[in-house]
Amino acid sequence: MKALIVGGGIGGLAAAVAFHQRGWEVEVLERAPEFTEIGAGLSIQPNGLRALDALGLGEALRSGGLADPPSGIRRTNGSWLIRNDVADLKRRFGQWVTVHRAGLVDLVLAALPARALRPGTAVRQVRPDGTVLHSGGTTTADLVVGADGVHSATRRSLWPDVPGPRYVGYTAWRLIAPPQPVDGSAETWGRGQRFGHVPMPDGRVYCYLMANAPSGSRTGMADLRDRFARWHDPIPALLNTASEDSVLQHDTYELPNLRTYVSGKVALLGDAAHAMTPNLGQGACQALEDAVTLASTVDTLGVRAGLAEYDRTRRPRTQLVARRSRQAGGPAHWTSPPLTALRDAALPLLPSSLFERSITPAYTWAI
Ligand SMILES: Cc1cc2nc3c(=O)[nH]c(=O)nc-3n(C[C@H](O)[C@H](O)[C@H](O)COP(=O)(O)OP(=O)(O)OC[C@H]3O[C@@H](n4cnc5c(N)ncnc54)[C@H](O)[C@@H]3O)c2cc1C
Repeated sequence: MKALIVGGGIGGLAAAVAFHQRGWEVEVLERAPEFTEIGAGLSIQPNGLRALDALGLGEALRSGGLADPPSGIRRTNGSWLIRNDVADLKRRFGQWVTVHRAGLVDLVLAALPARALRPGTAVRQVRPDGTVLHSGGTTTADLVVGADGVHSATRRSLWPDVPGPRYVGYTAWRLIAPPQPVDGSAETWGRGQRFGHVPMPDGRVYCYLMANAPSGSRTGMADLRDRFARWHDPIPALLNTASEDSVLQHDTYELPNLRTYVSGKVALLGDAAHAMTPNLGQGACQALEDAVTLASTVDTLGVRAGLAEYDRTRRPRTQLVARRSRQAGGPAHWTSPPLTALRDAALPLLPSSLFERSITPAYTWAI
């Protein structure tokens, strides 16, 4: 049996490993000239780690260094809006890790034979019968996995009437600052903008920043240093020590809910199926869950029944996580002073169990 994977991001490569381990022939078509990821960090949360465990890759990630769950959300002066019980989160849900994205891609790539990889191959069209038209010709397979990200050509081919991704109104910058002490991972909310930092195992600090902005607007490090100059420590220091060219900016999109993730012999997976806001840090974790679930259902039940089962289990779950993620970040982007004052007064009064309840469905997945 052959699985053809469109897109060699984290989701597509994980799917390739999952099928390869079950004895399938796999081929990954990636339009970029090489398989790699952007220079940013990535939080792999307990559910994502369990999916990597199913591929036999979880331990390698853990041995690189463990991370603490997020410790909470602060005001711009550093006082806490929400403070999580980090020890309790770890006890209840399991371990977190923070990785460099390229490191995770390398780890997954190493589990695949070189013959499975076709970089520099752009897919133009996918048909429900398993035929894929690409820059290198035409290939057919028993199963096609559309893992080609938020602007998926697979989705456009097979779901031409579905509305495209929606810009959610805020743009995101990511950078990695040189090693320096920070107090765990936390987020700080201002009015219409926020800053998050996550220590990496080697002491460097992965930072993400988000701000309301028209889509397509671009700003560099000087503007970011200026925007966050009066926020609490260590935010100005993190921005001042990061190099000018380390900052990456991407607008934030999410997909409207699809009515199905499968069509004929084709399944959508990861951002191609359910691109979500990054507020819960779950996009890649959900793509990893998709990958191991898809290989398991299709290999066990056969292509037709397996795809139906994949759609039945993954669609409600990923759409729930996407909704929770949208809700979790919304108040960070309020701009009205009375509303944000109300937010800042109300959040500290909420029981921390409320946060735990909202993230429980995301973290408690197991295959
Ligand atoms: C600011 C920010 C922070 C985030 N933080 C986290 C986090 O901490 N934890 C987490 O779990 N998630 C996080 N996410 C989400 C996560 O990055 C994505 O959900 C995840 O990378 C999606 O992986 P994917 O493989 O589905 O898609 P992608 O990573 O987009 O990969 C798609 C691949 O397909 C290729 N491709 C596209 N079109 C074609 C074509 N026509 N032919 C061939 N190849 C094609 C692309 O080149 C790419 O390699 C974050 C997202 C953002 C924006």
